[in-house]
Amino acid sequence: MAARSTIMDANSFRSEHADRLDLDTRKLTDRRDELLGGSYRLFYRNPVHLVRGEGQYLWDANGTKYLDMYNNVASIGHAHPAVVEAVHTQMKQLNTHTRYIHERILDYTDSFRNTLPDYMDPMDFKAMYVCTGSEANDLALRVAKSFSGGTGLIATTEAYHGNSELSSGVSPALGAGQPVGSDVWLIEAPDAYRTGEADIGAWFARRIRDTIADMAESGVTFAGFIADSIFSSDGVLPGDYLAEAIDVVHGAGGIFIADEVQPGFARTGDHFWGFANHGVTPDIITTGKPMGNGIPVAGVLARSDVLEAFSGSLPYFNTFGGNPVSMAAAQAVLDVIEREGLQEHARIIGAEALDAFRQVGGRHHQVGDVRGAGLFIGFELVTDPATREPDHALALDMLEELKARGVLTSVAGPFGNVLKLRPPLPFTRSDIPWAADALDESLRVLTARG
Ligand code: PMP
Repeated sequence: MAARSTIMDANSFRSEHADRLDLDTRKLTDRRDELLGGSYRLFYRNPVHLVRGEGQYLWDANGTKYLDMYNNVASIGHAHPAVVEAVHTQMKQLNTHTRYIHERILDYTDSFRNTLPDYMDPMDFKAMYVCTGSEANDLALRVAKSFSGGTGLIATTEAYHGNSELSSGVSPALGAGQPVGSDVWLIEAPDAYRTGEADIGAWFARRIRDTIADMAESGVTFAGFIADSIFSSDGVLPGDYLAEAIDVVHGAGGIFIADEVQPGFARTGDHFWGFANHGVTPDIITTGKPMGNGIPVAGVLARSDVLEAFSGSLPYFNTFGGNPVSMAAAQAVLDVIEREGLQEHARIIGAEALDAFRQVGGRHHQVGDVRGAGLFIGFELVTDPATREPDHALALDMLEELKARGVLTSVAGPFGNVLKLRPPLPFTRSDIPWAADALDESLRVLTARG
């Protein structure tokens, strides 16, 4: 069962689909070909041309309304008025950078640190701000190397952590063309369904321990382990199994970088941060996407002593990172999560959605597993539940069928057979039937076709 890279090259428009496009869409894809670098990928065989968003809904240029089941960027809802207002007000007044004193970055950092779980002391952590998740991970990896004095890094085989030289080196999800970074060791993700392991935590801890030993044998000093605690691109693997593995990392003097770009900011319901589901304490936390609800703001929260190894010897300047407009957007996001009770909402509505999607799964033997935490759900498609053979082709056809029913999503996992159901947090009880019926009907149509 050969794994294939998924997140960039699956669910992609390809030139052979161009002949089937309507004239307007064809004109736009041709313009993109002419104007933009060839590395961009559009979703869908018939790409979507979006012009407006509100809450959990999107509209295309023809006025068709969609249910967004994919977006964790507009995490508190597309075009949230509180973010629009905060950005507008600050932009009218001043936008500058961190070489001048400005209180917004300080006030935000107070709020930001206070989102840490009770078992962590916010005073132990310092913040740095950048513009993208890639930059956050790039900085985190540099800090981990400085602190540990090592170069050896561990990541999972379908991880995605970014597009810079360092972060792409721990992002095998970019595909076979992406070289793994020097001194990067890749290990299989802790997938209980696929491995069939009863104690996935112990299994994963053993993998980490063996990999650190391999590294030492090769003369490489271990620097750290970077992971997205819900393993989104590895196939969406919620749970509470990481503690033993992180103990091994720490026991070997390594840094644990929790990449919270996907599970952070209240999405998993029980906790604000994904790693808190595992009860573990990261040395460095990185975040991005949901932090500014569409404004490019990202951050690093690092234990002060860990950060000191880097910041004690190197200046860091990021022109746009932590600017007052970004901080205003980020503050509005935290305020809205609190005011609208979005974490509790994600917990309750996420559980109801999981239940509804599992009922759909119960009606179709091609659904091997439905798992989730809050509003982050993986819907795994297989040819046969007994063999658990991944059904990549069915997953891709499902995306098109779901789109035809107004539901937008995409796939994850090394076999590209897991639908990632991760709507903006305002997704509500009344949206569940739209999504569940679309899943049910799409499966019915496709499996009847054979
Ligand atoms: N980490 C994870 C887990 C991500 O999903 C992504 C983006 N898909 C990144 C890092 C990189 O973030 P950005 O695209 O903002 O650079």
